[in-house]
Formats: sequence, structure tokens, C-alpha cells
Amino acid sequence: MTFALAGPTLHPDGTIADATIVVEAGTIAEVTPGRDRRAAFVATGIIAPGFIDMQVNGAYGFDFTTDGRTVADVAARLPETGVTAFVPTVITSPWETYAGRLREIREGRQAAAGAEVLGVHLEGPYLSPRRPGAHNPAHLRPIDVAEIVRWADPSLVRIVTLAPELPAALDAIRALAAQGILVSAGHSEASFAQALSGFAAGIGWGTHLYNTMTALGHREPGLAGALLTSSVPCGLIADGVHCHPAMVRLAYRAKGGEGLTLVTDAVAAMGMPAGRYILGGRGVIVDAATSRLADGRLAGSTLTMDQAVRNIIEFTGCSLAQALMLASTTPARVLGLACKGRIAVGCDADLVVMDDALRVAQTWVGGKLVFEEAE
Ligand code: ZN
Repeated sequence: MTFALAGPTLHPDGTIADATIVVEAGTIAEVTPGRDRRAAFVATGIIAPGFIDMQVNGAYGFDFTTDGRTVADVAARLPETGVTAFVPTVITSPWETYAGRLREIREGRQAAAGAEVLGVHLEGPYLSPRRPGAHNPAHLRPIDVAEIVRWADPSLVRIVTLAPELPAALDAIRALAAQGILVSAGHSEASFAQALSGFAAGIGWGTHLYNTMTALGHREPGLAGALLTSSVPCGLIADGVHCHPAMVRLAYRAKGGEGLTLVTDAVAAMGMPAGRYILGGRGVIVDAATSRLADGRLAGSTLTMDQAVRNIIEFTGCSLAQALMLASTTPARVLGLACKGRIAVGCDADLVVMDDALRVAQTWVGGKLVFEEAE
């Protein structure tokens, strides 16, 4: 089926200009300047590449660490937030449960319609016992490289977050990177020097900059300082709670559009009313703005990607084009997805149409309309 969308379009070079996008068999076949009147869909706000969320623990009442099959339930609804592809995240779990969980996610991925399930992000169990965040410290493990390599099956596992200062971490980073897995530094007390050693070994991303790492210090900048001053990109939870808007501004100034990926770190409560939910076997209490353990520690977020886009503009004053790229183009590049994150010939027709208030009006995945805002 061939059809066209027309309207103000975010182009790969960061400009926004009217275009007509011809979609053929799920792929962008043509992008021409101006609005062709024959286009079946005409947008008034903006047409952007679909959002890609590299860290989602669950949403809409489902927690992937509890039941991996629910990636299908969440995939069906994430297009409401402009997300067209995501990396479901499993947090630190009892060792014996991983095989089953990964099997469930494989099943859920097969069954999923809506947003594309890109693989799994395994966050833990190789984390610093001093920076567990909401992870259960009882299930953290020391690194065994042979064990890690078997555990992180590259046919499903896309991202592994680990603490680079742990014994044997550098060997683990090299081994995982050799399997084509994106290794991310996080939940870590790494010093600046330890972080740089991790980067040299092959770390390719940082997990939620500022959170669950040593606070940025002027004498010991730690992992946060290493991420801010290197070319290693990192995720950022721009909800205004996980880090102060001024620190979001600092991150944007230091990293620019190429170095930051907006993530939600969403939990089951995202898209649901306030109340009590489960994250990786632990109870969390969710109010209008935050998700916390009983002791008050933050436990993921209820942020949506479209809200993150609106927030980053408000917090940093960046352009609309930049904000949209932080949610699409940059994560696609970090994940090595050559056919996503750009509106260009040959790319997947994964698109989000937003109205003038930057609310999601339509979401397309592989040329299929998977969400449309009710009039
Ligand atoms: Zn985390």
C-alpha cells in the first residue's frame, strides 16, 4: 500500500520544513519538499521520527520484571506517547528467574503489535551494592565473565547496565561489546578514572545520568562528570524530579543533541492512577509526580516520552527539532539502528505526528497507523 503524509517535517539535518512523505510497504519511499495536496494525511503541527525509549520497566499496570509477556500489552499502548520502538528493561532479579523472564519477553515480542520491541535492557544484577536505587540488593551478583556472556544472549539482549568499577567489569564490558551488546555504566560508585577505564573498554552509554551514581563533585567528578565531559552518550530522565531542571540544562549544554537520549524509566504506574504498584517484586507508592519505595527512594518514573520532549524544551530552551531528535534520532544512532530515527528514504515509516501543543495526534509504526487521538 502506498500513501502519503504531508506537513511540517523534521528532517535528518535538524531543519523543520514542509514535506510530503510517501510510504510504501512500511518504508519511507520518497520525501519531497512542500505539501502535496494528494496526501491522505495532512499534519498541522509536526511530523517527527517515532520516539525510541531505551529504558522502560513497564507501564499501564504491567511490570516486565514480574512478567515478561506483558511487553506485548505495553507495546500496544506506548504509541499513545509517540513511542514507536522501545527496549523493555528488566531490573535486578533472583538469578534463577532470568531464563524464564527472557523466554517470556521473547514470546511477548513475537505477539506484540504497536511499538516495536527492540530487545531487552538488563539493568543489573552486576551493580554497585552502594548504589542499588530501587533494585533489591539481595539479588546483586559479583561479575563472572563466562556467566555473563551466556546470560546476555545477543539474539535478545540489546543493553546491559553494569557498574564499571566492580572486579572483572572491564573484561565483562569487552566480552559483552564483542557480542554486539550496548554496555551501559550505571548504578555505580565509579570514580572519574574508573569510569574512563570503562569507556576505554567499550562502554557505549550511561544509564540515567546523575541518578544512582556519585554526585557530581568538583574534585572527584565521578561517573557523572566522566559522562558529561566525554563523547559517551547517556540517558536522562527529564521529569523534573530525578534531576533538577538546572542539571538537565547542564547536561544539554555539555552533551548537546548528539550525546543525550531521553528515557522515561517508566514503571507499571505510568498511564495509571496514583496508588500502589510492583517494580521487580518490590512495592512502590505512586503519587501524581513520583514513584517511590516505602523509604522514599525514587523507583523509576511515570514520565511519558511526549512529556519528556515538552519538558526538555522547557528546562533547556532547546529548539523543538533538538528535543525531538533527543527522543528519536539520537537513541536510534546509539542503538545502531540505521533505518530508524530519521525521516529519510529507505528508513522505516515510524512516525509521530504532534499537534501545535506537542500532544501526540497520530503514531505510525512500519507504515501502519497504530494510534490516533480521538477528535
Ligand atoms: Zn536504574
